[in-house]
Amino acid sequence: MHGLSFDLNTGVIAGRPPVEKRLSALAGCWVDPAAFARACATGDPVVYQVTSAPDEPGTGGLGYGLGCLFPGRVGDEYYLTRGHLHQRREAAEVYIGLAGAGLMLLEDERTGVCRAVPLAAGTTVYVPGHTAHRTINTGDAPLIYWGVYPNDAGHDYGFVGERNFRHIVVAVDGHPQVIDRAAYRPARL
Ligand code: ZN
Repeated sequence: MHGLSFDLNTGVIAGRPPVEKRLSALAGCWVDPAAFARACATGDPVVYQVTSAPDEPGTGGLGYGLGCLFPGRVGDEYYLTRGHLHQRREAAEVYIGLAGAGLMLLEDERTGVCRAVPLAAGTTVYVPGHTAHRTINTGDAPLIYWGVYPNDAGHDYGFVGERNFRHIVVAVDGHPQVIDRAAYRPARL
């Protein structure tokens, strides 16, 4: 493999089909289930898409994929990716922000410590091993980024279903705030 051509404004890799993740496929990810039900009732938008480079088999290789997380909210909570741990827990990953603005939640599965770090055009985020990671778009435009990882890292989504992330990112007076999941109380009309 020699290289790929991609569009850093749309997050599309030439000749590679993106895998779309629609809102209905993200049940259980959101802090406000009632807001999720309302959002699903009004349509089923694509929340994000990932386009992966061809797998390079063999030990020592890298895998990489281009993510495009669209802007939006479910209730107060900004659009997010499901998030995952790596099946091979010690595998790290580097995210490279190309367009847009947002955050990553990094939660160490061993200590439970959760950090929110900026991911935006012109920034990188290093995700250590044993760290669940989720991307969040807090801006008005698509958040586009590369993820680069050992090709045998694998994905483990069980973390999200079992305990989800400790922190959430919600709009308070129109501005993103990172708060503890347990502290959130949705406003009711
Ligand atoms: Zn990963």
